[in-house]
Amino acid sequence: MSNATQLIHSIPVDPLTGAIAVPIYQTSTFVQEAPGVNKGYDYARSGNPTRATLEKLIAGLENGEVGLAFASGLAAIDNVIKLLKTGDEIVAVDDIYGGAYRLFNNVYEQFGIKVHYVDTSDVANIVDAITPNTKLIWLETPTNPTLKISDIAAIAKIAKANACLLCVDNTFATPALQQPLSLGADIVIHSATKYLGGHSDLIAGIVVAKDKEIGARLKYLQNACGAILGPFDSWLVIRGIETLHLRIRQHCSSAQAVAEFLESHPQVDKVYYPGLSSHPNHLIAKKQAKNFGGIVSFSLKDDTEEAAINFVTSTGLFKLAESLGGIKSLISHPANMTHKSIPAEKRRAAGVSDSLIRLSIGLEETEDLIKDLSDTFQRVHTKKTTQYSTTKTV
Ligand SMILES: *Cc1c(COP(=O)(O)O)cnc(C)c1O
Repeated sequence: MSNATQLIHSIPVDPLTGAIAVPIYQTSTFVQEAPGVNKGYDYARSGNPTRATLEKLIAGLENGEVGLAFASGLAAIDNVIKLLKTGDEIVAVDDIYGGAYRLFNNVYEQFGIKVHYVDTSDVANIVDAITPNTKLIWLETPTNPTLKISDIAAIAKIAKANACLLCVDNTFATPALQQPLSLGADIVIHSATKYLGGHSDLIAGIVVAKDKEIGARLKYLQNACGAILGPFDSWLVIRGIETLHLRIRQHCSSAQAVAEFLESHPQVDKVYYPGLSSHPNHLIAKKQAKNFGGIVSFSLKDDTEEAAINFVTSTGLFKLAESLGGIKSLISHPANMTHKSIPAEKRRAAGVSDSLIRLSIGLEETEDLIKDLSDTFQRVHTKKTTQYSTTKTV
């Protein structure tokens, strides 16, 4: 049976009523027959049946033992970092999500947790950065926004050899394309705000642990710290996941076409998409993932912040916004948006140039998206030429 079919039928029919949709248990507490005698739930921070359905569903999709749902992707990341203690160190991907960088450096550093950022697409950099205090390796693959790929299976071996946990932020690929736990990782996290939710209508996070014991510790922390996902948002994520495979298929096929279009465009300098054979890690991407995802980044020949801002404010279908993974195509300028909290020189060193533009390919028809970009190139070109001739005549 295919993964998509399996997924659709792993969502339970309500045993009480036969409801084919998952019920939303909008309740804070559960009546007990006697103290401690209940039907599996006592208080909704500790457990809620709607959230439990989502948690079981995502654990299955990621091939893990324990799934946990949180109020945001960052709350999910925060939960994993709380496995560590003062003096522990993390080796993390340099091209990391800006919010994770902020959490690591501006919150956890003051508790004595140190993070080393390296280009994890070269495994040797990880080996060099590991010290006896390293307890966690943190990957995103593909990364945001330069779509770098790291070899999960190879890095999992290094993690095991050094008694570190490997956590992969699987937000960009989703389990429809890539299952890090099957490749040897210990923990997967998601911003379910993106592809899992899939409709730009919620904020949510997911943690999945491969191992029961680590899962139990994470579940303890989830209840102890309290950043759980509410029942209605849990229901929305379940509804999103129901169409995950179908959506991802379309995101990928349009993204490949857009990346090829951009690569052939005279105003484009570099295109970042793991599905292009020009991508430096194309073969690893092909080995560890079923397809290459819906995010495409590119830089302009006119490598200025001004040119990029001009472009991102001139599109029609592509809406200028943070976030990704929804129905509508989005465009963003990472240097000024998602990656603003990373100091400029560090940001540039990680490959996020001033003119880098990131696209989240939505579910519009492929040819409409390409036409929108093509028209935008024409528009910004004309605008620039006009501005130039105006200056000349004045
Ligand atoms: C958005 C995002 C996050 C943070 O998730 P929130 O739901 O916004 O808290 C973490 N990692 C990646 C890769 C993201 O894109």
